[in-house]
Amino acid sequence: MRTLSPADCAINTATLGFQAPIGEVIEAVARAGFGAIAPWRREVESHDVAAIARHIRDAGLAVPGYCRSTYIPAADKAGFAANVEANRRAIADAGVLGAKSFVMVVGGLPAGSKDIAAARAQVAEATGLLLRHAKSCGVRLALEPLHPVYAADRSCLSLLSEAIDMCETVEGAAADPWLGLCLDVYHLWWDPNLARDIARAWGRILGFHVCDWLVPTADVLNDRGMMGDGVIDVPRIRAMVEEAGFAGFTEVEIFSAQNWWKRPMDETLAVCAERLASAT
Ligand code: ZN
Repeated sequence: MRTLSPADCAINTATLGFQAPIGEVIEAVARAGFGAIAPWRREVESHDVAAIARHIRDAGLAVPGYCRSTYIPAADKAGFAANVEANRRAIADAGVLGAKSFVMVVGGLPAGSKDIAAARAQVAEATGLLLRHAKSCGVRLALEPLHPVYAADRSCLSLLSEAIDMCETVEGAAADPWLGLCLDVYHLWWDPNLARDIARAWGRILGFHVCDWLVPTADVLNDRGMMGDGVIDVPRIRAMVEEAGFAGFTEVEIFSAQNWWKRPMDETLAVCAERLASAT
């Protein structure tokens, strides 16, 4: 397996804690030698999307993914339709940004609901509705299963096997290259069937997110670790992901309110580059 250089890798802007405007973040990521950037909607919406896209291109950066979907499951039909519509607008922005994929963090249970099967059915229905629009925008949909600790509030899609099943359900008879998966080591590392399911995901992997699981973890949302600082065998998972046909950017995505978000961007980026080479 090759040693990763920054040019092979992307920085998900959440890693830098949203401490500066997107223009400064683009410059910092390019200056550190990375090949790609994955921005969030909070940095893009209500700004000039075409100008941001131009800035990213001029900085020589690719955009592997745009984060992330509006949660889909809703308590009623009007809410569901509004969530689908919000995602249509975001997918159009992803197209303007030149993003290869739109990252689908699908949402959990609607308020007051205890019906997770119904939530999953809404996700499948919405994914089908959004897929045609995504194609027309030149953007792939990447379903990102999340650790089951988030099943109630962030993602009723937990297992990689479930995400693959959902792709197959939405596609019908033949695999659709516009629909795929985003694999994040934080969400999947513990799964005893991980090797089997990554192999099953062959050709479908559109994004690969890396960080580490700290022991102890103070906060499962915002206490992610830098690669090498926790218990995830990140190189082993990267090997499986690349064996399954993934040849895109390895993307660093670290939510770390008490540590990395408090450091200057250039320092965090330098450590990312070092750990991508030594611990990823
Ligand atoms: Zn992720």
